[in-house]
Amino acid sequence: MNRMEDAASLAAWAGGWLSIDLDAIAANWRALQERTAPAECAAVVKADAYGLGIEHVAPALDRAGCRTFFVAHLAEGVALRRLLPPGRTVFVLNGIPPGTAPVFVTHDLLPVLNSIGQIAEWRAAAFEAGRPLAASVQIDTGMSRFGLPPHEVVELAGQAHGLAGIEIRLVMSHLGCADTPDHPANQEQLASFERLASLLPPAPRSLAASSGIFLGSRYHLDLVRPGVALYGVPPTARRPNPMRPVVRLQARVVQTRRVQPGDWVGYGAMFRATRPTDVATVAIGYADGFLRASSGGVASLPDGGPMLPIIGRISMDCLAIDVTGVPVDRVREGMPLDLIGPHRPIEDAADAAGTIGYELLTSLGNRYHRSWHAGR
Ligand SMILES: *Cc1c(COP(=O)(O)O)cnc(C)c1O
Repeated sequence: MNRMEDAASLAAWAGGWLSIDLDAIAANWRALQERTAPAECAAVVKADAYGLGIEHVAPALDRAGCRTFFVAHLAEGVALRRLLPPGRTVFVLNGIPPGTAPVFVTHDLLPVLNSIGQIAEWRAAAFEAGRPLAASVQIDTGMSRFGLPPHEVVELAGQAHGLAGIEIRLVMSHLGCADTPDHPANQEQLASFERLASLLPPAPRSLAASSGIFLGSRYHLDLVRPGVALYGVPPTARRPNPMRPVVRLQARVVQTRRVQPGDWVGYGAMFRATRPTDVATVAIGYADGFLRASSGGVASLPDGGPMLPIIGRISMDCLAIDVTGVPVDRVREGMPLDLIGPHRPIEDAADAAGTIGYELLTSLGNRYHRSWHAGR
């Protein structure tokens, strides 16, 4: 292989860099564990740890002290199991796809049982295994998405052998409006959860994800399940962010030019200059997961200063930034500009795209170079 084409060189030529601060993820987990103790703080690492690389994120959380993990899919659980030392608990939120109970048993994964059918499947697996099998049972307290609706909880509680062979490790439900603290659904879901959970055999209870944690200790119960807050996204809308930022997204300047009044920039001529304007083209576009709806957002120099408007439409592989007034030696070819970073919080970048931090994070692709930092 040509020396110029080794991995390090290829990375150095990437159009963009996403750097992920594993220490910040660990610090966020510790902060949430402190806030919620004596409850246990688990970690949700579904969707490749919200796009940040489960193979780095899960071991970092484990080193921080996390002992219980949640993924959405069975395949994510199988992959996660290989990344963790023995003795860690892994729950699969979406439950058991039909016929897959043996895979759960082989990989020591605990399904979140969401329906009477899934409970029957797990009961049969326990019978087959000749020993009790652990699982979580989910109750639907309002979202109408996953879990047993109230009448099925009552039904299940009335059956002598409904949960035979199942060791309930966790009874859980999920809040639908927790990022809006004064939404009446929060109280209603908590009350409904406490009432329904008390019908089932005694087991640890869990209701709160990231936002739910900040509704107060009544919502913490025995275990909390934060995801997005670990990754630095603020858990409560329109409140200061209590979490440490985790990601920085930088795009490389490919070319700069000066355009004159009347000149236009990008597809559809959506931007037209009204004064002499310095334009930097940077090598991140919507194919990198930087949403086309972010046209109209801003970027920043790595060390701050005035915000630099993104102008014209975002293309597949690039976008244009108005760098008028920035000294030329700060925006030369190859230099980075921040699309998410210390001076451009992820929630603001998400806002500019008309979406939420969750979607922005999980959209960020892997065409650019991802790097993980720890130990500072
Ligand atoms: C995704 C998910 C979480 C984590 O939610 P965040 O809002 O990211 O903290 C917790 N519980 C369930 C059931 C989920 O689906």
